[in-house]
Amino acid sequence: NSEIRETIVIPRYIRVNTLKASVKKVIEHFQAKGFTQEEPIDDLKNIRPKTIRKDKHLPDLLILPPNTDLHEDALYLSGDIILQDKASCIPAFICSPPFNSHVIDACAAPGNKTSHLSAIMQNTGKIWAFDFDKHRLNLLKKLIQKAGCKNVEAIHESFLDVDPMEQKYSNVGYILLDPSCSGSGIINRLDHLIDASDETQEQLDLSHRFKEQRLENLSEFQEKMILHAFKFRSVQKIIYSTCSIYAEENEHVIKRALDQTDHFVLANKNDMMPSWPRRGISSEINDDEGIAEKFIRTSPNEDYTNGFFVACFVRKTAQPINTE
Ligand code: SAM
Repeated sequence: NSEIRETIVIPRYIRVNTLKASVKKVIEHFQAKGFTQEEPIDDLKNIRPKTIRKDKHLPDLLILPPNTDLHEDALYLSGDIILQDKASCIPAFICSPPFNSHVIDACAAPGNKTSHLSAIMQNTGKIWAFDFDKHRLNLLKKLIQKAGCKNVEAIHESFLDVDPMEQKYSNVGYILLDPSCSGSGIINRLDHLIDASDETQEQLDLSHRFKEQRLENLSEFQEKMILHAFKFRSVQKIIYSTCSIYAEENEHVIKRALDQTDHFVLANKNDMMPSWPRRGISSEINDDEGIAEKFIRTSPNEDYTNGFFVACFVRKTAQPINTE
């Protein structure tokens, strides 16, 4: 039990909120506090104390030693930096909507990815941020205000109830879909990997059946959300992500959704952080076409970030997107 917890230690990642600050300004801020800038590296296991470095893959991400407490830091309090794990920064980076795009963040709260999209778009265009949980949506409203996002409209509604034919969504070109999932990739929830030797066989069978049922329910919901996103007539790119390590919520869901569309395919590996080593699990699906390599997976043990899965659908025949 303690062995797993001890081996998985992830650094303190900070995303520079480029609506308010630059990477250079943030590095200088930490240098003034006694930190030394070091070169980007792959092996983040033993980061020296009081060091700061750029991430190797994401341009607005900086890396500090694990457990660096920044809750009283002036740049955190002002919203210039956002404490966001690396894996959770990948979906908006893959989406990268151009300036003036119309975007839907379908499951947006508490808003980390919404504010990342807003920063990438530099407050141009429009983001409709939906969440059906009022309490979580209030957290999003606070977060986007603190981050200085001015192109976001927060809406308390189920994405499944949003009418894709409504005129105001006619130019939506990008949908970010980060639905509820088992959360099994989040480091402090990796308890399911721990040997349950104290439990009786009966208890184990029961919890196994419970887990299977839960995954089935989640994956049905996740598939429904993708099929709904397919209905938006101008959408060119749909980013799907989970913080789950289970293929049931990842490869299986994507494969089933692909089987039900004639209009969308998966984005090429070249557009999916091609140098990233960890891809989808081919053996989990009938993968004659080699689609698994188009997915991104992250693994806590090897990548020093939470377990995540990212896929990107693109429309087969690209249509021009009208922007305001
Ligand atoms: N994207 C968020 C972020 O980066 O801060 C995290 C999203 S969290 C994984 C999933 C969210 O989906 C929850 O806030 C949940 O309330 C919301 N949700 C679940 N079903 C939904 C639905 N049908 N429509 C809109 N939001 C939904």
